[in-house]
Amino acid sequence: MGPLLEITKSEIPEIDFQDKFLKPIWEKVLHNEDLTLTDGVKILETEDFASVGIMADFITKNITGDKVYFVLNRHINPTNICVLSCKFCDFAKKPGDKDSYEMSIDQILDEMDDEIREVHIVGGHHPSWEFSHYVEMVKSIHEKYPKVQIKAFTASEIDYFYRRWKITPEESLSILKEAGLDSMPGGGAEVFSDRIHKMLLPGKATGDRWLDIHRIAHNMDIKSNCTLLYGHIETFEERVDHLIKLRNLQNETNGFLAFIPLEYQIGTTLLRKRHTTPFDDLKMIAASRLILNNIKYIKSYWVMIGESTASIGLNFGANDLDGTIGKERIAHAALADSPAGRAREKMVNSIKDAGRTPVERDALYNEIKVYV
Ligand code: SF4
Repeated sequence: MGPLLEITKSEIPEIDFQDKFLKPIWEKVLHNEDLTLTDGVKILETEDFASVGIMADFITKNITGDKVYFVLNRHINPTNICVLSCKFCDFAKKPGDKDSYEMSIDQILDEMDDEIREVHIVGGHHPSWEFSHYVEMVKSIHEKYPKVQIKAFTASEIDYFYRRWKITPEESLSILKEAGLDSMPGGGAEVFSDRIHKMLLPGKATGDRWLDIHRIAHNMDIKSNCTLLYGHIETFEERVDHLIKLRNLQNETNGFLAFIPLEYQIGTTLLRKRHTTPFDDLKMIAASRLILNNIKYIKSYWVMIGESTASIGLNFGANDLDGTIGKERIAHAALADSPAGRAREKMVNSIKDAGRTPVERDALYNEIKVYV
């Protein structure tokens, strides 16, 4: 899968670059050349915010026009009990902790309804839940809500099924697919850098392992998303290196549906004192769009960056606002200030306010309704 840009489709905007280093990057974009590590870092460093936005917006409009996608979905985090202790995570608890919880399959089913199109399931690496429990979870949802597409279990969880129960990713994904799994979420990637892994998430699937598991899934015709957790202790080089690795895998498999830049939520983990600024969040969205020239959808994830910044992100290269979420616990635990639920009308209005055309989609990006 190569670049998605078709220059002949669009009128090329004149850009009055204030930062002369961006001009050669723009030339590369227009010639469908892949941006390098140095190019990516320049985009993240520049103060020529407007030019970065215009370049990214040009690519997105070229690929999906004015359309901005959203889904009626529900995020379910079946348990917060986790054997790991990632240093950026405000969500995980140990067995017996006051705020630890485990949802039964019936409780999970009760959180859902017939209206949603996608259920997104990620949770802690539970010390004793057997693999069969996860299969039962997927099967029960699929039986009760056959129209809801199931996007479940990060590569990190799939890796844990192997570490804990010696079930290989090929086996677990095949069994889960048979039970009703439609796609995989992009979480667990964090930042691929070995340095960051050693410092912040020892014991969790490495970057190479994460990529391998997504490669296996794509080869089994299971599409997935991909993410980057930014805004903590990583460098710009580490962010861009991560994006280039995702682009390389997409060239190989064409299995990624969407990329989601996830802003680190400070919560009580305090890896830094302040959140990244909206200015940096928007540049991150734009850089993702410019570097990941072969991934069709870039999300502006309102749960992490707030509704206002997410809406402006739609003019900085994003073409997906994610979903209505429902009871989202992970970001909430880290004190994200967005409301936990959001109605369809609000999503539509927010996209229209950005001057774009709202499109309701399912988990696999099939269009359900265009709101003209
Ligand atoms: S990020 Fe995931 S794996 Fe790491 S501690 Fe939190 S729940 Fe566990």
